[in-house]
Amino acid sequence: MASKLFAICLIFGFVLHASNLDAQDKKPVSTSTKQKRKTYAIAIHGGAGSSPGRSEKANKARMASLKKALEIGTKILENGGTSLHAVEEVVKFLEDDPQFNAGKGAVFNSQGKFELDASIMSGKDKSCGAVAGVKTIKNPITLARLVMTKTRHVLLATDGAEQFAKNFSEVTIVENSYFQTERSKKAWEQLQQRRELSKRKLKLSHIPQHTGSYRGTVGCVALDSSGNLAAATSTGGLSRKKFGRVGDSPIVGAGTYADNATCAVSCTGTGEQYIRNVVAYDVSARMKYKNVSVQQAVDTILSDVLNKGDGGIIAVDKNGNIHMNFSTRGMARAAADSDGRFEVIWGKMKLGK
Ligand code: ASP
Repeated sequence: MASKLFAICLIFGFVLHASNLDAQDKKPVSTSTKQKRKTYAIAIHGGAGSSPGRSEKANKARMASLKKALEIGTKILENGGTSLHAVEEVVKFLEDDPQFNAGKGAVFNSQGKFELDASIMSGKDKSCGAVAGVKTIKNPITLARLVMTKTRHVLLATDGAEQFAKNFSEVTIVENSYFQTERSKKAWEQLQQRRELSKRKLKLSHIPQHTGSYRGTVGCVALDSSGNLAAATSTGGLSRKKFGRVGDSPIVGAGTYADNATCAVSCTGTGEQYIRNVVAYDVSARMKYKNVSVQQAVDTILSDVLNKGDGGIIAVDKNGNIHMNFSTRGMARAAADSDGRFEVIWGKMKLGK
């Protein structure tokens, strides 16, 4: 009898021990201690690949615009607005500014026309929307948000997207020439002259090789007071891209990603590289599965996955920690949070409140 009781206790003890082991194994390994979440945090990029140029006036104007964009986003978040609203409004503002390669001011494709890409994502429920190759939409980010909220799809492209846009009074339709600026017009004319001369095998050197190719894609990531993350990106793409080429900016997971469990990400740079390496999602995946910080995730991708010069990444994690880094000559960027941070940075230039 006593030996039977002993055997039962032994088996019971083993089962208990085994189930504890199982529970321990399933517990996520955490390298970080529990952090306090900031009430809000926001980061913006104005494209990687461009460092401040020689014209002080132009540099200052670009910094001032980023500052205004940061103020717009910060105000929304301070007043308890959603991160989704903040990222859309910030990107919309920058799309309207001809100094950036998004909306007005976009770079031209190989035919001298403008084709725009944008996407937006909510980390709360992974809802997202995107448009690619649109030619007459003043604010592609607004249309991307409508794809997200008013359709069961994620990405609408070219004519279908333009047709869908006609259903909404909040979408402004413009001529394709609206996106042109003095700078891009001049660059296109010079490119045509060079093409003509090279066809006739004549000397090109007296015509500047000005392609208007500076990169100024825009993107924004934010955390709001409810703990929801959001990301948005908008671009004219790569200068002189092939007609019909689509980059990473409207590809969820490549140029834009948000997940409340990890972070919100917006990318800028050579889109093909960001698509191949699913960069925006990779930041989140590294945080989730390797339990690394947002900074480690971003920096490792830039140094070990992408090639030097490919571009930049901005990201904010679920606690409001912001990280912005790049492997190009420069990336115009801005960040603010509820702990009082408020800064715009480009090259050696810095702007505060
Ligand atoms: N990533 C964009 C694209 O490839 C361009 C950029 O960010 O400069 O379309």
